Amino acid sequence: MRVTVSVIKADVGGVGGHTKPSDRLVEAIKETVRNSSDLFLDHYIGYCGDDTHIVMSHTHGVDSQKIHKLAWDAFMAGTEVAKEEGLYGAGQDLLKDSFSGNVKGMGPGVAEMEFEERPNEAFTVFAADKTEPGAFNYPIYRMFVDALSNTGLIVNKHLAEGVRMNIMDVEKGRIAALELWQDKPTIEAALMYPGRYVVDSVTTKDGEPILDASTDRLHNIAGTYVGKDDPVCLVRTQKKFPATEEVGSVFNNPHYVAGNTRGSHNMPLMPVKLNSAATINFCIPIVESLVFSMHGGKFTGPFDGFSTPDWDYIREIATKRAMAIRSQGFVHPATLVPSELEYAEGYRARMDILEGKMKPMEGVSGGQKRENYEDPD
Ligand code: 13P
Ligand code: MG
Ligand code: MG
Repeated sequence: MRVTVSVIKADVGGVGGHTKPSDRLVEAIKETVRNSSDLFLDHYIGYCGDDTHIVMSHTHGVDSQKIHKLAWDAFMAGTEVAKEEGLYGAGQDLLKDSFSGNVKGMGPGVAEMEFEERPNEAFTVFAADKTEPGAFNYPIYRMFVDALSNTGLIVNKHLAEGVRMNIMDVEKGRIAALELWQDKPTIEAALMYPGRYVVDSVTTKDGEPILDASTDRLHNIAGTYVGKDDPVCLVRTQKKFPATEEVGSVFNNPHYVAGNTRGSHNMPLMPVKLNSAATINFCIPIVESLVFSMHGGKFTGPFDGFSTPDWDYIREIATKRAMAIRSQGFVHPATLVPSELEYAEGYRARMDILEGKMKPMEGVSGGQKRENYEDPD
């Protein structure tokens, strides 16, 4: 049986700031989806920080107008409640006034894959808040490239063959298909700068989908900087794919990602339990894991992947790293480079004043180019 799993998410309002959706907001989304239950096989709705995710299994394929419209209508219903309640950022991620074909480029994020369902289909959804799609670069690298993180890359003959990784250039709205193992250093060079290059999807070398991440909004609005769209990512696990614990454990070293307060800082990505609010401790970036089984398109789960006691220890590490980088205040790299600041206008206003006070220095011509420069060996 061919099944499509679609994860569609949007932030349509938060209680008292960018914290979490209200109960009524989530209920409005749930009710809208439930009222169209003839469209899909199964569904689950939850939230990560102020972003609500709708997970649906169905037979309409990827980019289905019906499925995307249902999600759009549900987020519109959530927006109505957010407006009634005066929630912060009501309708924040709905960038257009009306639906036109599919939600891509309209604000909501989408991760979806169509595949032949295995008898014991297993997949995990990772949903993050207060960060950007590039936040998944490092964990995805650990899943598919780093055998020190994933022994499966050695002992599983399918994984040992290597995968195809589609990497998107956020600035230019372009995409490149790269293959392991021959493109390993090129993949590494791309993943080095998550603000510019992000993993869009991973497949086997013969095209079977393994992972899909929500980079579509970035494709569609290329030209303006929208790099920081709180991402979701869907990964199939077990058998020829990484084991569930191989995709979960790659979040056990809370790495620094761009985002959090005013989308303008670097802080560690903290794994949290399902339906967690964003912390008001400078909103440390967070990630949830929703572990599902699926049979005949029916879900069992989600099991809360980051709920076991060991993850409390990882949360403590994340909190310590968060406090460490915050201890240097606004000084880069605690803050992002100017081109990635989300609240860039205020910064530019300050810099204009600085520019206005700048005077040439006596005897310094400035900006001399080095001729015949070569990389040192
Ligand atoms: P969100 O992207 O989660 O809405 O957060 C925005 C922000 O600026 C938080 O300070
Ligand atoms: Mg918000
Ligand atoms: Mg958010």
